[in-house]
Amino acid sequence: MTPVKFFSFPGNYPSFDCILTLRASGPMKAGINDANRSRVFTSLGIDLAQTVSLTQTHSRRVLVSSSDIHSGYPEGDGILTVNPATIPCVTVADCMPIWLFNRKTGCFGVLHSGWKGTGILQEALVCAKEEWGAQSQDFLVILGPHIRSCCYTVDEQRARYFSETFGPSCVVLDEALMASASPWSWRLSLSEANRLIALEAGIPADQVLDTALCTACSTEFGSCRREGSENFTHMAAFIRPRVH
Ligand SMILES: [Zn+2]
Repeated sequence: MTPVKFFSFPGNYPSFDCILTLRASGPMKAGINDANRSRVFTSLGIDLAQTVSLTQTHSRRVLVSSSDIHSGYPEGDGILTVNPATIPCVTVADCMPIWLFNRKTGCFGVLHSGWKGTGILQEALVCAKEEWGAQSQDFLVILGPHIRSCCYTVDEQRARYFSETFGPSCVVLDEALMASASPWSWRLSLSEANRLIALEAGIPADQVLDTALCTACSTEFGSCRREGSENFTHMAAFIRPRVH
């Protein structure tokens, strides 16, 4: 089997597999690395034609598969569906994959959430409510591997934006970096920002699972910051109903 990591929703909800390809599976950009994508999907019993992928723009745009996704790679950074034959898929490499599932309506999906797109989780909850009447308190959420505050330093402007928009606990000033006169002296936690978004929206804390894995720390993941912006490994993050 091609190297992938499996995650499951917190609690007794074994009905979906949340999957992330690892660096050893190779790059997974939709429309560019389709040989790699086919290999990994086939190894999991998935037909490439079942997958829905996007032209990602670091936006907060979430597409609903029953209406506006079917041909090519439409622009957006999140996909939701209720169709169990559809496999929503995004690519990440330091940005956070967020998997989500609503236990009452059965809608599920995956989001690409980097610093610019932080807030797409809230957009997804609004979309799911409009489309299926899904309530936030019935969602289960997994915050996937991404560049964490151990490795993610940002400048004052970005730190202030996160602190003011999502909450001061997203950002910590690193005194040692500040003493060395680094302009990137603030450590940013994308997982804390998304945890706060989830709680604010009404998702109970025990329904939000943080995988606690850092893509920049571990060489098993693709990472723009570690591998370099010219040649990093896009990993595919997707979700499918569990095969029994
Ligand atoms: Zn790290």
